[in-house]
Amino acid sequence: MTASARRHEWYAGASDVGLVRTGNEDAYLMEPPLFAVADGLGGHQAGEIASTLAVETLYAHAPKRADAKGLARAVRAANAAVIEAAEQGRGREGMGTTLTAAMVEGTRIAVAHVGDSRAYLLSRGSLVQITQDHSLVADMVRSGTLTHEAARVHPNRSVITRALGSDPNMIADAIEVDAAQGDRLLLCTDGLTGMLDDAAIQEILRTAPSPKAAVTRLVAAANEAGGHDNITVVVVDITEASATRRTEGAGRVSASETDAAGAPRRVWPVRALWVLALAAVLAGSAGAARGFARSQAFVIAQGGRVAVYRGVPGEFAGIRLQWLEELTDVPVSALDPVTAARLVRGIRVDGLDAALDLVEGYRERASADTSPSTAPAP
Ligand code: MG
Repeated sequence: MTASARRHEWYAGASDVGLVRTGNEDAYLMEPPLFAVADGLGGHQAGEIASTLAVETLYAHAPKRADAKGLARAVRAANAAVIEAAEQGRGREGMGTTLTAAMVEGTRIAVAHVGDSRAYLLSRGSLVQITQDHSLVADMVRSGTLTHEAARVHPNRSVITRALGSDPNMIADAIEVDAAQGDRLLLCTDGLTGMLDDAAIQEILRTAPSPKAAVTRLVAAANEAGGHDNITVVVVDITEASATRRTEGAGRVSASETDAAGAPRRVWPVRALWVLALAAVLAGSAGAARGFARSQAFVIAQGGRVAVYRGVPGEFAGIRLQWLEELTDVPVSALDPVTAARLVRGIRVDGLDAALDLVEGYRERASADTSPSTAPAP
C-alpha cells in the first residue's frame, strides 16, 4: 500500500492504491483556492494519464474567482485535452476520467463536476452531497427503481454515464454553494464512497480534529472495509483563517460578504447575538435589546419559499426577537442542496440590505438553474 499525503492546517489530501488494484489511476490537485479529484478509466496506465492530464488542464484554465460556470469551462478544456491526447496516441483510445473540482473563496464554494466522484459538505455536523453522480445506478435511484443503499453494492455501480474523454460536447455540472465558517468540504473518488456509507463518512469528518486527520482516517476506513478501488480524498476546512488568507491575497471575498468598500463584513455568531440581547434585557432595557435585534437579519425557509426576517433566528428562554420582512417568491427547491439545508435553520447576515442582496443572488441562481441550459429536445 502506498499513500501520499500533504500536510497543511486547513486542507489535506491523499491518494491510496487500495488493497486490490495494482496501480493507482486516480489523481488529485491541491492548489488553493483550487482543489480537485479525478478517477481515471482505461487500464494499462491510460486512466492515470487521463486523470493527471485532466487536473493539470483544469489548473491551467481555472478562473480567478469561485465562479462555477468558469470552473465548468475549465473542465470542458480538460475534456478536450483528454480527447486530443488519445487522438495523438498518448494513453489509449477510449481512456477517460471523472473530474470533481472546487474553488473555495471565503465561505463561497464553486463546484464543477463530471462522473461519479463526489463533493460533500459537512455543514453544522450534517453531511450533504453537493454533486449528483453521473452513473447508471444514480439514475436508477433518481427514478425510484433502486434504493440508495442497494446502489452501493449493485453489480453495475461502476457504469458511469458521463466522463471526460469521449464526447467533445460534454457538459459539466456547475454548482455554487454558500458555506459557513466551520464547515468542512470533502472531494473524493468512488474508492471511498463504494466502501463507506454517508453515515460513516459524516462521523469521521465530524470528529476528526483536522483535515489531515480526517484524510488519514477516511483512507484507513475504506481500506478496512476492503479497499476494492483506488481511494482519493481531499478535505478543506472553511475557516476564518483560510478566508482571511485569501482576503489579504487578492481581495477574494464574494460580493455577498463584503461591504461597499470591499472590506469583509463581520457576521456575529447567533449565540453571541443572544448574549448581547439578553445582556440588554438584564440591564433593564428591553427596548435596547429590541433595537439591537432589529438591526440584525436572517433568511430562512418558510413554506417552501425563502423568507427574510429582521432579528435573530431561533429563541432563547421563550423569547423571540424576529419580525417577518418579506416572504419572497424564491422556491427553496430551486437552490443547491447545501443552501437549502442551511435555510432550514436560517442563514444569518449583517443587516436587512445584506439579506435582500442574498435573496437577489438566490433568485438569479434559481432562474438560471431552471432555464434550459442543456441541448434542446429532439
Ligand atoms: Mg474509482
